[in-house]
Amino acid sequence: MPMKTGFSARRRTVRNGGTRDSLGRPPTVVIGAGPYGLATAAWLSAAGTPRRVFGEPMECWHTNMPMGMFLKSVPTASSISAPESGYRFEDFRTARGLGPVGDLYPIPVEEMIAYGRWFQERRVPELERRNVRGVEHVDGLFGVTLDSGEEFLAGNVVMATGQVPFAHEPAELTGRLPGELVSHTSGHRDLSRFSGQRVAVLGAGQSALESAALLHETGALPTVIARAASVAYGSPPDTDRPSDRPRPVRILKPGSALGPGWSHVACCYGGGVIRRLPRGTRMRLLHAVLGPSGGWWLRPRMDDVPVLCGRTIRSAGAEDGTVRLDLVDSTGHTRVLRADHLLLATGYRVDVDRLGLLAPELRREVRTFRGAPRLSSGFESSVPGLFFTGLAAAPTFGPVLRFVAGTGFAARRAAGSLAAGTRDRP
Ligand SMILES: Cc1cc2nc3c(=O)[nH]c(=O)nc-3n(C[C@H](O)[C@H](O)[C@H](O)COP(=O)(O)OP(=O)(O)OC[C@H]3O[C@@H](n4cnc5c(N)ncnc54)[C@H](O)[C@@H]3O)c2cc1C
Repeated sequence: MPMKTGFSARRRTVRNGGTRDSLGRPPTVVIGAGPYGLATAAWLSAAGTPRRVFGEPMECWHTNMPMGMFLKSVPTASSISAPESGYRFEDFRTARGLGPVGDLYPIPVEEMIAYGRWFQERRVPELERRNVRGVEHVDGLFGVTLDSGEEFLAGNVVMATGQVPFAHEPAELTGRLPGELVSHTSGHRDLSRFSGQRVAVLGAGQSALESAALLHETGALPTVIARAASVAYGSPPDTDRPSDRPRPVRILKPGSALGPGWSHVACCYGGGVIRRLPRGTRMRLLHAVLGPSGGWWLRPRMDDVPVLCGRTIRSAGAEDGTVRLDLVDSTGHTRVLRADHLLLATGYRVDVDRLGLLAPELRREVRTFRGAPRLSSGFESSVPGLFFTGLAAAPTFGPVLRFVAGTGFAARRAAGSLAAGTRDRP
């Protein structure tokens, strides 16, 4: 049922961005200018789809990831997809006069940000560097309100708003600590503010281990608390160039954007098949493939950082302005850890309800499973014209959607579906 809102009452008078197509349909709106939004815009542009694209280019990488971080994905798996050649990470390096790099080159986050902005300037020059404040359903179209107050109608909306809205705080910690004593890793760009402080880092994945290494290097005193019995690190690639691996090894473990191995190849190219698997299987796959581990180059940097494995937090509270954590191990043995701050490196959980950008009525119209939107093969939700890409699509299409490497699969499908106007059931 269409909503009766102020927007719908005003709809005949709102601007439409001047981008209606030849049939008079209002534009497709892409919200977010990270790798998925930029790739979607590039593919929509090639298909001639009228569009408006919003966001600050690579904002999340600049604001919600720590300075000094390195990418875990190798250069060949870190390109933003465009339908034309010439926009890959290696093309960016060539354009900047930088030499070629192989799998042994961890990309500094600053270089990835520069690459994303370079891509945007060349491939998505129409980007409007403004935030979308709200989206609501208006008589089968979408009423879009910008931060500037501008309102217009869109025919389709692609939600490319990334992982930050899905930052996960374990339920047992909710409300236990005042805001100044606990934060999620996505809340930090500069970890040097913790210099001299004891920081308990909760988690065992790349984000936990890299945050701990960076904290240690900026003069803080981190302690990692991991539920797992041990923390894992990747191994350095055998060769800098995958093609230099001996042929039998390449046959047994073919290379892919997610790393070597047939199961990784299947995840890279089999998103359409994964979508048809039972939900439980998909969720297991999502968590099992490339599960928590640190990049190979992190291990030596963690030598002097204490890591408490096999521990869970039984209770947490504030004591004299600091954090008190009661930790318990698998034998039931408890110990108290005191810290000046608790840093949650506890990842992200897709939940459409967390997307406050969408009007509550619109959110309720989106059919979900375990919080994630159900999506058609073209990334369209149960609300016709409302698309989700990036992490929000990972529970449907599998683990490659957690990484930049999935931008080709996602953008090609979503743009194709939008151009064709055909729909299958989500
Ligand atoms: C610490 C960390 C390390 C990672 N390392 C890697 C790696 O090595 N390799 C890899 O492939 N992936 C890595 N990832 C995952 C990577 O971040 C995602 O794959 C990628 O960013 C997804 O792109 P996206 O466009 O979906 O989301 P994002 O990059 O998060 O972009 C979403 C954008 O939407 C914008 N936005 C949100 N709301 C609005 C609004 N209302 N209006 C306008 N704009 C809005 C945000 O500002 C943001 O810029 C890492 C993630 C983290 C957290």
